[in-house]
Amino acid sequence: MRAADVSTDLTEVLVTEEQIQAKLGEIAARVDADYAGKDLLLVGVLKGAVMVMADFSRALQVTAPMDWMAVSSYGAGTKSSGVVQIRKDLDTDIMGKHVLIVEDIIDSGLTLSWLVENFTARGAASVEVFALLRKPEAAKVEVHCKYVGFDIPTEFVVGYGLDYAERYRNLRDVAVLAPHVYS
Ligand code: 5GP
Ligand code: MG
Ligand code: MG
Repeated sequence: MRAADVSTDLTEVLVTEEQIQAKLGEIAARVDADYAGKDLLLVGVLKGAVMVMADFSRALQVTAPMDWMAVSSYGAGTKSSGVVQIRKDLDTDIMGKHVLIVEDIIDSGLTLSWLVENFTARGAASVEVFALLRKPEAAKVEVHCKYVGFDIPTEFVVGYGLDYAERYRNLRDVAVLAPHVYS
């Protein structure tokens, strides 16, 4: 589904499907080079990263295995607190593996910095992050994101895996949700 099909709910397309696919190709080429000869494991964060993982993993030349983690971050309103609960843990032992976390978006960065610490504590050989989108707020937190797709403004976006109340994940583009949808 394209963003144009639901234009009354959206104010602006920030990143198009074509831009996303081109960027995934660029980042996949970097990852292929950076992890050559290494035991790479892709870890997607459910559910937002489903679309990024599907397209990014297929843009890679290496046959990297993938695993998934589901976490919930508690906090007041729409801001995460950094207190993270595991809803679905990894299926695999990451000891000695080079883990690349695949994320949809970094906002406060609190969820990601918790994940990086957690994976490091489990004995991963290295832990890096690929986030398709990054908001300015993320710059304030000490989370090193090695691969970033697009820097976007502080707006609530949906599409390409990102939801509002579980909807809009199937949009092919990333778009800003219209304020009337919230109320
Ligand atoms: P944080 O970086 O604040 O710990 O949390 C990041 C998570 O909050 C993302 O993985 C995503 O689930 C959610 N999130 C942050 N910004 C947005 C946004 O603009 N739109 C949507 N749909 N989710 C967001
Ligand atoms: Mg996410
Ligand atoms: Mg969500």
